[in-house]
Amino acid sequence: MPSDAELYRALPSVDEALSQLGEMSEPRALARDEVRAALDEMRAEIRAGQGLTGPTAVERARVRLEAWRRPSLRGVVNAAGVILHTNLGRAPLSAAAVEAIARTAGRYSNLEYDLATGRRGRRDVHAGVLLERILGAPAIVVNNNATAIYLVLHELGAGGETIVSRGELIEIGDGFRIPEILERSGTKLREVGATNKTRLDDYEGAISASTKLLLRVHPSNFRIEGFTGRPDLAELARLAAAHDLPLVEDLGSGSLWDLREQGVADEPPVSASLTAGVSLATFSGDKLLGGPQAGIIAGDAALVERVRRNPLFRAFRTDKVIYAALEATLRELLLERYDEIPTLRMARMSVEAIDARAGALAERIGAEVVDGESLLGGGSTPAQTLPTRLVRLRPEGVSAAAVERRLRAGDPAVIVRVADDAVLLDPRTVFPDQDEALSAAVLAALAGAASQSR
Ligand SMILES: *Cc1c(COP(=O)(O)O)cnc(C)c1O
Repeated sequence: MPSDAELYRALPSVDEALSQLGEMSEPRALARDEVRAALDEMRAEIRAGQGLTGPTAVERARVRLEAWRRPSLRGVVNAAGVILHTNLGRAPLSAAAVEAIARTAGRYSNLEYDLATGRRGRRDVHAGVLLERILGAPAIVVNNNATAIYLVLHELGAGGETIVSRGELIEIGDGFRIPEILERSGTKLREVGATNKTRLDDYEGAISASTKLLLRVHPSNFRIEGFTGRPDLAELARLAAAHDLPLVEDLGSGSLWDLREQGVADEPPVSASLTAGVSLATFSGDKLLGGPQAGIIAGDAALVERVRRNPLFRAFRTDKVIYAALEATLRELLLERYDEIPTLRMARMSVEAIDARAGALAERIGAEVVDGESLLGGGSTPAQTLPTRLVRLRPEGVSAAAVERRLRAGDPAVIVRVADDAVLLDPRTVFPDQDEALSAAVLAALAGAASQSR
């Protein structure tokens, strides 16, 4: 056994290791840092009594340099069957949206330049025209729906009270809570009704000289069952109008298409809210709309313009990339090319079509096909499921959890569900051109897990 002192002496100097690395495309300073880090790592191993058993300093430095070339944000295969998976980037963009980004993002564009007059233009126009055509009302775009709500409350509610039903004081996720957002925006929360039931009278009784607006929030990710109720939206809009107050609705997902054919009942289209008399509706761009991350504020022209003039609008504005993708997505919607938008195509996919792909996949990987459910997801409509066909794999000799881990560590990473010690794959959220890669990944994960357990 060599002594620690001998082991330390056996380590190359930084310059020796650098020269052993040879010609590199990486900057020399970066290589030097990684060589140093590799040597630190080895000294720590010696200190921990592990000796010098691992890779050499040069090998370690190469691995470290290589890691800088690997993107942190990368594509994954979503076989979990959650269409709008917030952790997996919500809505995958349509080919037209991706193409619009590619066409404009790497070059100059007319983002804020009016080509007709040669003067400064407004970035709003790019998505604004299409939004107005689709919604029948003017609209502006900010970073996401959370910002949209904040901005609207800041403009319309600051210095007074905002009336909200106790059943709608929700947390959307990641700490975004309606009561806290209200407070931060400078408006005072006036809660009305009970958790499960709020009547029109409750709103009416709370209206005072300091009331600035009525806020309605889509309950999104939770549901109250049983003895429940809240006023009809049109009723509430009439009450607000009678008191000359705006009614703002946070729609959450904000569908621009009718989901009822898919059996989704609690996501009424945005236009329905505006028709019912909502003054301003806010919703996300990357949920049921199927576009990029954005928050859209639509409704009464004078109120939209007021919100637009709030100085925070400038702070919350979105990038050209977003406008390019949003405009392209909205154009597909206007032209009713629904299947061009991945989110919509997945939601509309027939069980028969899924079954055919599930069958082929199951055959390749030695699994069976069973009935199951896909989720719409996106912090919306939690109970909203779509019937699907799942590939159920019960691996032999290894646990489903071990296979799941291997799939997640693979390239591409594959995200699956695990239930009752079976791996479940839902073809609905897998792009057809990923089917081959998916079966190859599963076979590799099975082989890897089996060899490790031996
Ligand atoms: C998702 C959601 C939000 C937040 O939208 P983001 O676009 O993610 O900021 C706000 N309100 C409701 C009701 C939601 O469902």
